[in-house]
Amino acid sequence: MTASNTILTDGFGRKHNYLRISLLEKCNLRCTYCMPADGIALSPKASLMTADEIFAIAETFVKNGVDKIRLTGGEPLLRKDFPEIVSKLSELGISLSMTTNGILVDRHIDVLKQFKVKKINLSLDTLVASKFTSITLRNKFEKVIDNLHLLLNHDFQVKVNVVLMKGFNDNEIVDFVKLTQFLPISVRFIEFMPFAGNEWDRSKMVSQQEILSLVGTQFSSEEILKLEDEKNFTSRNYKIKGFQGDFGIISSITNPFCDSCNRIRLTADGKIKNCLFSNSETDLLTAFRNGESINNLISESIQNKKKVRAGMVTMDEMDDPKKHFDNRSMIAIGG
Ligand code: SAM
Ligand code: SF4
Repeated sequence: MTASNTILTDGFGRKHNYLRISLLEKCNLRCTYCMPADGIALSPKASLMTADEIFAIAETFVKNGVDKIRLTGGEPLLRKDFPEIVSKLSELGISLSMTTNGILVDRHIDVLKQFKVKKINLSLDTLVASKFTSITLRNKFEKVIDNLHLLLNHDFQVKVNVVLMKGFNDNEIVDFVKLTQFLPISVRFIEFMPFAGNEWDRSKMVSQQEILSLVGTQFSSEEILKLEDEKNFTSRNYKIKGFQGDFGIISSITNPFCDSCNRIRLTADGKIKNCLFSNSETDLLTAFRNGESINNLISESIQNKKKVRAGMVTMDEMDDPKKHFDNRSMIAIGG
């Protein structure tokens, strides 16, 4: 270990300074690409991290170099103790952000402002109310749109996550880009990814290349400006000249960004995953509850991280559904 390396530096020199914490496995939507049709077996409440445990485990990561924490789920705003969790985490002096489906944002807007959770990723896969109901199995489109505007009116930095699926919303790509003309949002088109129970197959996915060529049917190459990639980027970003917002593409399948990966995930039941696509997990919560140090476990997990997508190097490996059966469903990982 060199002076600047910590237990969060892996064998490829990647420093993991970004922790994503899932607060619970439950959700008030049923997005078909995320939640299996038969639901998931929920962990018993006693197996989920309490607010104090979330804080203590997060603090260990912060002491070792984490400076960004994103709260996710399930739907993070469903946690009854959400205000207590953000209040505690805000004491760590790190950048705090959240990914949400937006439904409960109005109830929590004051807490989000008070504890400076200013960067919000809001998931919205369609601009058509009836299609929203068909993909989420709930009739909450207006609520989500109202809360998107509420966040903007309160000067939150909003990214809109759009999971693209062929024949469902690929015909709305241009409409989402047009939304950035007058709204200061970053739309992020996400390639549909395989997880247990979501019936992924490659033919349903809209690739980075297809997204860009669809945008090109409406805007000229002079109008489409490529923005500089951020450090540790997951999204390759573009802007239409003169538009207030921008758009980006998260191409985890066709053009992964593993080389610059700085992310580690903590599930609601206290397990870490060193990669979204990894089937293996390391249980921190049990060790923590037994009064043991979790540093070695964290280090081991980081050292076991593979160079690319949990070791799935080729497209054939990635396309094989069996490789993903043993992973969790996305709803229990947290995105
Ligand atoms: N409930 C919150 C929400 O929907 O924003 C947070 C949790 S959700 C699991 C986090 C993100 O994962 C969302 O933006 C969602 O669209 C994305 N996601 C879920 N399943 C996915 C899949 N199969 N492929 C790509 N993204 C997915
Ligand atoms: Fe719930 Fe988010 Fe998954 Fe949709 S994507 S089912 S809102 S956790």
